[in-house]
Amino acid sequence: MNFYDMTVDGLRKFLTEQNENPAKAEILFDGIYRRGFKSFDEFGFSGRVVEKLSVFTLDEPEVIEKLDSKDAAKLLLKFSDGNFCETVLMRQRFGNCVCVSTQVGCNMGCKFCKSGMLKKRRNLTAGEIVGQVLALSREFSCRISGVSVMGIGEPFDNFSAVADFCSIITEDKGLSVSRRRVTVSTCGIVPKIREFAVLSPTVSLAISLHAPNDELRSRLMPINKTYPIGEVLDAAEYYSEKTGKRVTLEYILLSGVNDSEAQAKELSELIRGRDFYVNLIPYNETDTDFKKPAPNVVDNFCRVLKETGVIATKRKEFGAELKAACGQLMSDRNER
Ligand code: SAH
Repeated sequence: MNFYDMTVDGLRKFLTEQNENPAKAEILFDGIYRRGFKSFDEFGFSGRVVEKLSVFTLDEPEVIEKLDSKDAAKLLLKFSDGNFCETVLMRQRFGNCVCVSTQVGCNMGCKFCKSGMLKKRRNLTAGEIVGQVLALSREFSCRISGVSVMGIGEPFDNFSAVADFCSIITEDKGLSVSRRRVTVSTCGIVPKIREFAVLSPTVSLAISLHAPNDELRSRLMPINKTYPIGEVLDAAEYYSEKTGKRVTLEYILLSGVNDSEAQAKELSELIRGRDFYVNLIPYNETDTDFKKPAPNVVDNFCRVLKETGVIATKRKEFGAELKAACGQLMSDRNER
């Protein structure tokens, strides 16, 4: 069993079953995540306790490649079964934010996304997602103050591992990343959005919308045929009611596809009266046929939204020079 898969609650349960004091769970988190202990011998526990803890390994992914630029860095990691994943560090004004992957490959098949070109091979475990944060923090000697679950994979197609991951990294005695600064992005798996709304800890949610109507969204994102826009927005509203957190709608701008003034108005109409926040993302070009709009088209789209009362911002782009920006994370290493 990998220690990094364990939530504090899971550890408490394990300790109780072993007739040990469950309060050791917090001590274990503190030692491993904060003090950087490399083994259970370092805690000063009795031999009996250390023996019981020996069921846990401290498995971390191997760093295969390290790329760095001024505001972003990227690691290629290898897991013990030979699968790879990429993970990104963004140096933002408020601190360092990481973008983690949740699956090897992805089955959602969004037409514009390179990450999904490899079909899903397997889910990552919670510990493998935690391992990405640990590897970035260690390789670049930095504290991590934000996490975007926006790398390769659909988080809600790997629900329990992602839920555990959110609990582990926000744990006060551990890495204690602020809940506000953890954002899970989903293509819109409606029942899981609703399930996530009532789980603790509650973190921020983003929905990949990318189109103002079902006809276009179904062409870009096959998942829309199962969960159409209306249901997705209702679930998003439910999420914000339950958690008190405003949900972000992500909207990639694709030249000539979804970036016209009429489509901006349609989007505004669609979400009128609802408390959403729109984040516009100029497309990061990869080897698809889609193109990024000219900057004035992006500005114009944003202006129309704002004029019609929508809160909208443009996403600052990170890491394009490292092929580390949204939708550019690689799947081909796994293919080879
Ligand atoms: N599966 C999740 C999270 C992964 S993708 C989801 O769909 O939300 C993170 C974000 O990057 C999503 O909004 C996705 O649609 C977007 N994205 C994918 N390819 C992109 C590209 N080439 N340029 C910009 N954003 C892209």
